[in-house]
Amino acid sequence: LTVLAFESSADDTCVAVVTSARQILSNVVIKQHDVHESWGGIHPAVAVMAHQRNMPIAAKRALQEAQIDISQVDGIAFTRGPGIAGCLAVSCNAAKTLAAIHDKPIVGVHHMQAHALTVFLTSWPDTPSFPFLTLLVSGGHTLIVLAKSLTSFEILATTGDESIGRAFDKISRMLELKWDDIGPGAALERFCASPESSSLPDGFIPFPRPMKGQLAFSYSSLHSHLERYLHFNGGIGAVTMPSRRAIARTFQLAAFAQLEEKVLLALERCANRNLNIQHLVVSGGVASNSWLRERLNICLQSAPNPVSVIFPPPSLCTDNAAMIAWASMHRFLEQDYDDYSINPLAKWSIEDVEQAKNLTED
Ligand code: ATP
Ligand code: FE
Repeated sequence: LTVLAFESSADDTCVAVVTSARQILSNVVIKQHDVHESWGGIHPAVAVMAHQRNMPIAAKRALQEAQIDISQVDGIAFTRGPGIAGCLAVSCNAAKTLAAIHDKPIVGVHHMQAHALTVFLTSWPDTPSFPFLTLLVSGGHTLIVLAKSLTSFEILATTGDESIGRAFDKISRMLELKWDDIGPGAALERFCASPESSSLPDGFIPFPRPMKGQLAFSYSSLHSHLERYLHFNGGIGAVTMPSRRAIARTFQLAAFAQLEEKVLLALERCANRNLNIQHLVVSGGVASNSWLRERLNICLQSAPNPVSVIFPPPSLCTDNAAMIAWASMHRFLEQDYDDYSINPLAKWSIEDVEQAKNLTED
């Protein structure tokens, strides 16, 4: 079975062709960092316009690279939600229109379910067994989720304010790092990884570690901590480059310390419920951070029971349509299709994947 998939829930325009035999025939991602850098973050109206410009290019390239014709595609998948409403509509309309013209079935996919299931595409045959724990760290989410099956998920922890990815983006912007073509989060990782030594500026109090002992995250307190420091200490212009690097490094440390603490706490809660968790799956854009990969491997040595951590390759942790194609595959195989009247869901909890058919945007 061959699936063509569309993803445009945030700022990347993605189209991919994937088979049920786990072959990624093409995986086109057109990033929009250049159009958003001047805004300092994703500007929804600008993102919609860029998706509209890029989608036909990405679709044509995906079919060309896969060396197939639309007639050879068995089904068309798209990200139904969650995400920015106008951005989701671009993929939804592209998928539905193509499907209607070429008489193909469609499946609308949950974006975070797709991040969680990517490892079944990339780590085969070393895939996790249900139930497993998944840490989803991205631009819009910071979640620890208990995955009970391909479609059943229970949220164990979420953020009370903002996502870890957004905190990376904001700190990166405050430190005036160059995004280049890699984006703000990856730019911050690259800045920290430089071998140059650094020391914190005078008077800089370490970043807070909020929500200690609780199964919940808070990330807005990290960037507001830096905001306050800069406000009372002459702004970013007064901070030398080595000190900026020290701030970035201690931010990364504090951001990841929260993840480590909560993952261990969640594993403890699962052990108390007699759930036999053997795998932690980490995905979403922040999971492409190589230092996080190292840290989680070390932290899991203190887990109550042996747990192995699995990450998709970095390029499939950030947004892509191959993961959307893969998350739709079980439904195409079961001929469980959506109706052409389906609409995007900008707000859609991963706990409600199975209720998808009954949900409408209000
Ligand atoms: P969501 O998946 O929640 O809907 P999204 O799709 O916008 O959000 P992703 O593409 O999954 O987000 O992840 C993007 C986020 O990951 C951004 O906040 C980005 O800065 C962050 N990110 C990307 N690479 C890295 C990295 N190497 N280190 C830290 N953060 C990173
Ligand atoms: Fe994402």
